[in-house]
Order: sequence, then C-alpha cells, then structure tokens
Amino acid sequence: MEQLIENKLIKANKVFSEWKRQPFEERQKLIRKLAEVLKNNVEKFGKIITNEMNKPISQSIAEIEKCVLMMNYYADAENILCPEKIDSEFVYSEIHYIPKGVILGVMPWNFPFWQVLRFAIPTILAGNTVVLKHASICFGSGKAIEDIFFEAGFPEGVFQNLEVGHAEVKEILEHDVIKGVSLTGSEKAGGEVASIAGLNIKKSLLELGGSDAFIVLNDADLDEAARVGAQARLQNCGQTCVAAKRFIIQEEIEELFLPKFIEEYKKFVPADPMDKETKLSGMARPDLADELEKQFNKALENGAEIIIPLKRVSDNEFNPGLIRVEEGNPILREELFGPLGMVMIAKSDENALRMANDIPFGLSNSVWTKDKNRQSFFIENLESGTVNINRMTSSDPRFPFGGTKSSGYGVELSLLALKEFVNVKTIVGN
Ligand code: NDP
Repeated sequence: MEQLIENKLIKANKVFSEWKRQPFEERQKLIRKLAEVLKNNVEKFGKIITNEMNKPISQSIAEIEKCVLMMNYYADAENILCPEKIDSEFVYSEIHYIPKGVILGVMPWNFPFWQVLRFAIPTILAGNTVVLKHASICFGSGKAIEDIFFEAGFPEGVFQNLEVGHAEVKEILEHDVIKGVSLTGSEKAGGEVASIAGLNIKKSLLELGGSDAFIVLNDADLDEAARVGAQARLQNCGQTCVAAKRFIIQEEIEELFLPKFIEEYKKFVPADPMDKETKLSGMARPDLADELEKQFNKALENGAEIIIPLKRVSDNEFNPGLIRVEEGNPILREELFGPLGMVMIAKSDENALRMANDIPFGLSNSVWTKDKNRQSFFIENLESGTVNINRMTSSDPRFPFGGTKSSGYGVELSLLALKEFVNVKTIVGN
C-alpha cells in the first residue's frame, strides 16, 4: 500500500480515539457548521458535480441543498446512542453503543455529494471516523468534501478522502484499522467488497441497484402519474438507483395513460448541463452509454417493442427511449441505469404485483391508486425496502432507506443509521 494511504488510515485511527470521546452534542455542533459551509456555497459545489458527471446544474444544486437538509436533521437528532437500562434483577443491566472505529466508504458518481454525506454524517455522529474511496471520476467532489470538514472545524482526520482506484480497495479494507465498509454502487462491486469484508469479519452495508416499479392503476390521477413518472425515470439522466424503471400500467387505462406519459417523457431532451433550465443532459461516462445501448438491443432481440426509440445523439447523450416489455424478457433481470424506461401491461392488481416482485431487486416501488384497500394490498405485498403511495421515490433524511434482495442490506438515513456502525456492548452483574 502506498505510504500516503497507510498514513491516512493510521491518522484516522488515531483521531478516532479522541473523536469517540467527544459528546454527541459537540459532534452535532460541528455538523451544523458543516451544513452552513455547504449552504453558503451551493453554486460552487453544484458546479463541481456538473463538471465531473454532467448532471444538469439545477439538479446538482438541489443535491447540495438536500445534503444541507440531511445534515441539519442529524444536527437536531435525538441521541439514541445513550446507554439504555434494561429491567432485570442485576445492579448492572445496560446496553452501551460503542463506535466501531475507522469506516471505509466506497461511493459512486451518480450523486457525488449526497451518497458520500448520507453515509458519512450518521457514521461520524455515532463517533466513528471515515475514509472515502470515491468513484474515479469524482475525486474533485471527494477533495471538496474533505476540505469542508476541515473548514467547519472538524479535527483533521475525522473525514479523509483517499484518491485510489477500485483495485486498491481490497488492501485498504483488509487493513487492521478499518472496521467496516459501506458501499453504494453496482451488484458486482458490492458483492466483491462484501466478500472481502466477510472474509475479514468486518461489517458491511450495501446500497446497490434497483429496477423499481411505478404501478399505475385504473383509479389513479393519470395526469399527475404521467408527469411524475417521466421525472421519476429521467431525472439525473436516469442514473438513480431508486429511479422508476418499470411502468406497470393496468390494461384498461393503457390507451388513456400512455399518450400522456409519452408527452411528458418527450419534454426531456438533452441540453447544456450548465444551463439552469436543462432537465436532461449526458450520461456520466461514454462507456455507460455504450452499455445502455447494448441493453436496449438485448431487450429488442428478446421481443421488446419500441414506444419511443432510444436515440444516441453524442458520446454520452440520448433522446430518452421507452420500450414495451413482456414478462420473461431477460432484460427484466438487469438494471437500466440511464434514460430508457420499460412499460408493462397488467390485467389485474394481482398481475401487477407479481410483475413488480418478479425481479432480483427490491429497492423502492411506487403505487398510484386512490383506493385505500388497493393501497394496503400493495403495501403488504411489495418486496421492497420502501413503498411510495401516489408519489415518486425520493429519499428523505427522516425515513430509513435501504433495499431487500439484490438491492443490498443495511439502513441509511433516519435515526436507525446511527446504529449501523456501532458495537452493542452488554453490561450485566452486581
Ligand atoms: P461501480 O459499482 O463499479 O462503482 C461504484 C463504486 O465502486 C466506485 O467507487 C468504484 O470505483 C467502486 N468499485 C467498482 N468495482 C469495485 C471493486 N471490484 N472493488 C471495490 N470497489 C469497486 O459502478 P460503475 O461506475 O461501473 O457503474 C456500473 C453500473 O453500476 C451502473 O450502470 C449501475 O447499474 C450501477 N450503479 C448503481 C449505483 C447506485 O446508486 N445503486 C451507482 C453507480 C452505479 P471506480 O470508480 O474506481 O471503479
């Protein structure tokens, strides 16, 4: 391992021994300062995101604003890590929550600030220190985040950015000082990193891909569902784990809903990412666009029909596509991480549910119906970490966020995230 990286790990561990002793409220004060630094520089940090991965600038700014909201949520959060007393016959009868130590974050490029801070803030508030391996196209964001921790007054070493490629993750994760890892990204990366963590008996948290359903039933507000559906598929150029990827439409409203949906969909055309009016720009990397094109062709070869063609207009830009897919098409086993949506037609609520669940993933589904009984049916039976009723998925710091099946395990956001990287210590006796 490069000496510079080793030094950073050792520093993170040294700072941990002091940081874990800081009162929860003192850590919260620093998080509030961090939120202020971000808030005062939304345009500056938004531009870093757009320059690195092409996100439309208005969405990059919104990403920074959402980080501010999340940080203020944790700055005000109840301390659920205080020692807990248990009723028993013993004098000592308590649970203590002990931070684990240095936690590695392996993070992706699709939300270069949000994904990192969503993991780092509760982890650090719980008393851990963090080292980040950011996506290779987002080292500028990683460095900017390290700088703002310093500017906000955090002890140097509480959060450090490691500029390393993914081949170096194994050695870092195997290092004695690293006590756990949180990865957001593909199933492939997640599986590899979790295997290394497992072999070394270290905790892992995985937030992986999804292929969420957006189910529109016959009593839904179709105008709203069409407008929100297009946004749910195409914001961030479709490169969102919780984007709506499969639109499951009840058969009898197909002819009413689809034209509305297509009209909304066509409002997304690629344009200059630095223009504040732009809703859609290029994908993050040309190789990701190549991959999406391959998946489009694979879907067609297996019987999918074109509703709107996926049309490549430059190295990384597309006019978004929409295809109609039947059950059994192997493309349904894959995540489409770009501006390509799938439409499926369901004969009944039961049929819609079966289609929604019949995939390897289980992140966050959305159901559109005004009927309470039908809402309950889907709430109880959808196999996903989150179910949204008459809204698209959008994470919120107050609510837990995480997947089931191949979408991963562990909880991010909410108070529950504070308990992901702590050891539970039981104290019993007289
Ligand atoms: P990856 O999962 O490869 O990258 C995400 C992060 O993991 C990056 O920091 C990457 O580093 C790192 N990484 C990759 N492979 C390994 C490995 N073997 N060991 C340790 N770390 C690793 O995503 P891609 O950028 O290649 O995108 C491919 C697909 O992944 C997308 O099309 C999409 O389907 C999915 N994805 C899902 C995301 C989500 O939010 N759920 C986010 C991003 C991608 P480096 O950049 O150096 O390779």
